[in-house]
Amino acid sequence: MTVTETAAVPHEGEPEGRAEAAGERGARVTAERTEVPYAAQDGILRRQSARESAARTYARALPIVPVRARGLTIEGADGRRYLDCLSGAGTLALGHNHPVVLEAIRDVLDSGAPLHVLDLATPVKDAFITELFRTLPPGLADHARVQFCGPAGTDAVEAALKLVRTATGRSGILAFTGAYHGMTAGALEASGGATDVRVTRLPYPQDYRCPFGIGGEYGAELAARWTESVLDDAKSGVPRPAGMILEPVQGEGGVHPAPDAWLRRMRQITEARSIPLIADEVQTGVGRTGRFWAVEHSGAVPDVMVLSKAIGGSLPLAVVVYHEDLDVWRPGAHAGTFRGNQLAMAAGAATLAYVRENNLAERAAALGTRMMAQLRSLAAEFPCIGDVRGRGLMIGVELVDPEAEPEPALPNEELAGPEAAGPRPAAPDLAAAVQRECLRRGLIVELGGRHASVVRLLPPLTISDEQATAVLDRLADAVAAVAHRPARP
Ligand code: PMP
Repeated sequence: MTVTETAAVPHEGEPEGRAEAAGERGARVTAERTEVPYAAQDGILRRQSARESAARTYARALPIVPVRARGLTIEGADGRRYLDCLSGAGTLALGHNHPVVLEAIRDVLDSGAPLHVLDLATPVKDAFITELFRTLPPGLADHARVQFCGPAGTDAVEAALKLVRTATGRSGILAFTGAYHGMTAGALEASGGATDVRVTRLPYPQDYRCPFGIGGEYGAELAARWTESVLDDAKSGVPRPAGMILEPVQGEGGVHPAPDAWLRRMRQITEARSIPLIADEVQTGVGRTGRFWAVEHSGAVPDVMVLSKAIGGSLPLAVVVYHEDLDVWRPGAHAGTFRGNQLAMAAGAATLAYVRENNLAERAAALGTRMMAQLRSLAAEFPCIGDVRGRGLMIGVELVDPEAEPEPALPNEELAGPEAAGPRPAAPDLAAAVQRECLRRGLIVELGGRHASVVRLLPPLTISDEQATAVLDRLADAVAAVAHRPARP
């Protein structure tokens, strides 16, 4: 038996007595059973650091050993429970081990169906595609083709880039500052951290730290004009590209939602010049941002959509969906062994259907708005919170150095809206401290953004109001601890 500090949250499906009400600020001492002794857990962590690559990521900031999970909650080998707002990097739309997902997986297992069939047709795959097409933005759904690729988001990005290059016969790609598309060569090249120059980098609109110092509508308009001018200036040094790839909300880049008007402009600009528009919805898809697909906020219909993470219902699955006009691939043009994962397709179809039938996108929109309002109140109290932003249940809280001078605002006061008041420098160390303090309080959050200074919340769309309160309370306590100030009463 171990006494832990972790506040317990009702565990779906757990007998009454064991589940404790959440929602009170602060840690609660609760006794939990421990099935893996501490020594064993320490051994697992020690062996991990001795044997796994230096490139390991999440494991460094989150030294826990998950042994059980349900919904929002993960239980560590030490018996502690954590509210998981990382959700497998935004993968778990329904949280961990949702009953409909487990049932779908069990049904396949019990049916004796093959688990792996390359790209052969199966009833499971047929059902997945039917459900997926049902959710697609109208305009694409009626003319869509789907290509199953390797199972990661980055595989689908590679497929999309290759597709538009084949279809247009051109090679250049337009991509945006702060973008993240994955870790394989082509996707990495399209990402903001790339050093290769085959990609033309354009400014992504952002209110906070806007490169033009303006933010808002005008900042987005300048970003759009720059894009137009790069394409139309015969001497811009940018040949007509094969495609443009963008995230409707930049996730890893620090949770920057693209303004709807800007996204529509990108659609008009690309359409007018016959440049296929690729929406990378790997992280934003399946209800996360308050619409089933994030492009739907703007009404812009892309030519290509790159999908992964939540579409596999927690198992690896990725597809590229595109307009039939682009379907110029020859048989075998984009092959791969692992394109027929039946369990992932079953789990994915169950997830897509559940999100659709239970209007979880609307729920994400409403709850996200409330959570962001509460976080903005917190920001008003703590000057180390520079910005709160997001869409739906994709939320970012940027930590800044409260002691440092703000960046000077634009001299033109008319142009410099409230967003241009001048942000303080990003504070990655503070953000890391908040993440650590969250973990101590039983809350798992991820960091992101250009300077790793943005605390990211990606809870499952099934999170209850009570659980959301518990998440925000723990985050508030963590910020208070880092800011060396008592939390609000
Ligand atoms: N695109 C976006 C927008 C992403 O957020 C990610 C992963 N965070 C990827 C692509 C790459 O996905 P994967 O890690 O599965 O390769």
